[in-house]
Amino acid sequence: MKAAENILEVIGNTPLVKSHRIAADVKANIYYKLEYLNPGGSVKDRPAMQIVLDAEASGDLRPGGTIVEATSGNTGIGLALAGAIKGYQCIFVMPDKMAAEKIEALRAFGARVVVCPTAVEPEDPRSYYSVARRLAEESPGGYLANQYHNPSNPRGHYLSTGPELWEQTEGKIDALIVAAGTGGTITGMGRYLKEQNPDVQIIAVDPVGSLYYDYFKTGKMTEANTYLVEGFGEDFLPSTMDFSVVDEVIRVDDAECFTMTRRLVREEGIFTGGSAGGAVAAAVKYAERMDREMNIVVMIPDSASRYLSKIFNDDWMRENGFLQEENNADTVADLL
Ligand code: PMP
Repeated sequence: MKAAENILEVIGNTPLVKSHRIAADVKANIYYKLEYLNPGGSVKDRPAMQIVLDAEASGDLRPGGTIVEATSGNTGIGLALAGAIKGYQCIFVMPDKMAAEKIEALRAFGARVVVCPTAVEPEDPRSYYSVARRLAEESPGGYLANQYHNPSNPRGHYLSTGPELWEQTEGKIDALIVAAGTGGTITGMGRYLKEQNPDVQIIAVDPVGSLYYDYFKTGKMTEANTYLVEGFGEDFLPSTMDFSVVDEVIRVDDAECFTMTRRLVREEGIFTGGSAGGAVAAAVKYAERMDREMNIVVMIPDSASRYLSKIFNDDWMRENGFLQEENNADTVADLL
C-alpha cells in the first residue's frame, strides 16, 4: 500500500504551477508554489512541524505538554495538526482582525483560542504576543512555539521548502517572491537558494502599514499602521527575519492584494488568500520593471477558504471600498 503513516508525512512536496493569464503581458515566466495544498492548508505546516520536532529533541516540549502560540491562524493550524498526532494540547492567541474561518478552524482541532485587540503595541500586556507569553508560563508543561524568534521556523524552510523548490525548478530560478510575516519562509528559502546560486534574487513583499519596507530602505523603524490584508507584514522586527538574504522589498496596498487574489481564483483557479494576491501583484510589478525573460517563483501561502467572509464577500469588499458595482450574491427575488 502506498499510504502515508500519518498526516504529518504528507506535509511538503507541493506543486509548482505556471501562470498564463496574469503573466500574459510580461516577458518573464511566473510560477506559483502552491503551499495551500499542505494538509493544514498553508505554508506554515512546514515550520510548525520543525518547531515541534526541534522542541521535542531539545526536551523543551515533553509528552502531555501544551503548545502555546501567538498566531494569525495558519501556524496554529500547523501546530494543531502536530498536536493531534502527537497528543499535545494547544492554546492559540490571535489578534481580533483575523477572519472568523481561521478561529473556527483552530477550534475544530480542539484548541483553546484567545482573541486579543489588534490596535495595541506589541509590548502592551493585552497584545497577543504578551498574552501568549503569559499563558505559556502559566500552563503546566507549557511550551511557547514563539515563531517570531524561534530559529526552527526559518530552519523548516531551509530544510524543506528551499531544497524542494531548487529541485523542482532544476536550478533555473531567477527570482523568488515571498510575502514576509515572521520572515521564516523568506529567510529559510533565501539562505538555501543563495547557497546554491548567489544570483537568485530574493524579494520580500510588504503591505502598506507594515514597517519592513521602510526598515529595508532606511534602516530605521517607522511607526506601523493597521491594514486589512492578513498574514504578512509586521509592526516589530522578528529575529526570524534575516534581511541579509533579501535583495529588495516591494510594497503593496490592501486594494492591490484583494483585487489580485480575486483574479488568481477566477482567472487561474488558484484558490488562495490575500497574501498570495499581494505577492503576485508584486511579482507582476517586478516582471514589468525587469522586462526580460526570466523565471520568477511566487509563494502562494494559504487558501481562499480562510477568507470567504472577507475577500470573496462582495458586501465586505464594498464596505471597505475595494469594490464598486460587482454583485454575484443573487437572491431568487433578483431573478424574478
Ligand atoms: N501569508 C500568510 C497567509 C501567512 O499566514 C503567513 C505567516 N504568518 C505568511 C504569508 C508569511 O510567512 P512567514 O511568516 O514565513 O514570513
